[in-house]
Amino acid sequence: MSKDKNITWHEGKITYSDRCKNLNQKGLVVWFTGLSGSGKSTIAVEVEKILIQKGYAAFRLDGDNVRHGLNSDLGFTEQERNENIRRISEVAALFKNSGIITLVSFISPYKEMRKFAREKAGDNHFIEVYVKASLKTCEKRDPKDLYKMAKKGEIDNFTGISAPYEKPENPEIILDTDELSVDEAAEIVFKEIVKKQN
Ligand code: ADP
Repeated sequence: MSKDKNITWHEGKITYSDRCKNLNQKGLVVWFTGLSGSGKSTIAVEVEKILIQKGYAAFRLDGDNVRHGLNSDLGFTEQERNENIRRISEVAALFKNSGIITLVSFISPYKEMRKFAREKAGDNHFIEVYVKASLKTCEKRDPKDLYKMAKKGEIDNFTGISAPYEKPENPEIILDTDELSVDEAAEIVFKEIVKKQN
């Protein structure tokens, strides 16, 4: 909702279906959520590669990348995380409306904000992927040494250590990356995306 009452929506002549027809696919938001180090980015990169190789139009919005640009003004308090996800939800929905399969990987620890992302995209155009790995596994992987820093108290509000992660209740997909390989996980997500195209 705009702060300014004088702003009105300007309708175009091209619909979402027109755009999908041109691209020969349906736009989707595939929302990866999970602890840092659970494998969201790694799996999303693989899914994007498969999609592009098979001729789909796909694009990835990655937490760290977006925080370098669009959301560089935001930190990690609950309020800032919510604003981070609010903006990404809007951007993801715009990509989806353009007909693109949009892969979004953010920790997105709060249920309420994931619900917001789903509502923005529309339930039929949203796949929530819970990338599940035990805290122990994530700490062991620690690809960016973030857990080490968080445990030393060098990072505030770190999910799993000093900030909560609210597990998804009804995600379309659960990927247990303690058990699945990256390729197996990517294949599961790809299959679900194809199923949603019908
Ligand atoms: P996130 O985006 O969730 O923070 P990343 O994808 O950046 O996580 O990091 C996950 C790390 O774990 C990577 O270094 C990746 O190579 C490693 N890894 C090991 N096994 C798996 C797996 N089965 N699925 C995903 N990542 C895995």
